[in-house]
Amino acid sequence: GPGDPDLLTLRALQLMQKANIVLYDNLVSPQVLDRVRRDATLEFVGKRSGYKSTSQEDINDLLVRLAREGNRVLRLKGGDPFIFGRGGEELLVAAEHGIATEVIPGITAAMGGASYAGIPLTHRHVSQSVRFVTGHSVEQGLNMDWAELAKAGQTLVIYMGLVGIEKILQRLIDAGREVTTPAVLLENATFPEQREIFGSLEDLAERVLAADVQGPSIIIVGEVAA
Ligand code: SAH
Repeated sequence: GPGDPDLLTLRALQLMQKANIVLYDNLVSPQVLDRVRRDATLEFVGKRSGYKSTSQEDINDLLVRLAREGNRVLRLKGGDPFIFGRGGEELLVAAEHGIATEVIPGITAAMGGASYAGIPLTHRHVSQSVRFVTGHSVEQGLNMDWAELAKAGQTLVIYMGLVGIEKILQRLIDAGREVTTPAVLLENATFPEQREIFGSLEDLAERVLAADVQGPSIIIVGEVAA
């Protein structure tokens, strides 16, 4: 889980005790980081505000070099490494270099945050499917199938959608989803300071602006948000 160390699985805790080098990034909470081996070397490879983040290529090179030197390397990410986490890319690089790996599933922000907020992502007779999408594709103008995304009876979870929230919600309305559809923004999901800002497709962007949201956030759209 991105924030709450209680969401770490037993297997994750075991491997955290084995690794002598840990490469971690922003979305890993200090409380989770605190569970690694005491004498492990910690290396931050994420974004620091105002600075450029370590490039993915540099991270890949570092992973390969450290593993080749005989270290047990832990690549620690927030949530699930395979959900918008570039875990797949890093796994491919390791495979190309013949480095043995093990992937530990994590609880992605959508699932952890929704549960803590008491929001079921699917609900009988209300929502029959759930989709995880990235808001970046909206800003980059990628052709998403909006008609499909705007269909009723499903839950949409938007990652990386804070900056583009107004545009995204408007696109869903334009594509036919009811303006009254409930929507919620979860900030700092699964952290002790998790915040939930409730609204509808029509007014959530405004409410979020008024609430001065700063932390990592996801948006959940669908009847389940009510
Ligand atoms: N692998 C991560 C997602 C990484 S993509 C996971 O499974 O959760 C980064 C985006 O994830 C952020 O821009 C934000 O939209 C979302 N995110 C990550 N941690 C979050 C948290 N604690 N609360 C809310 N959203 C979070």
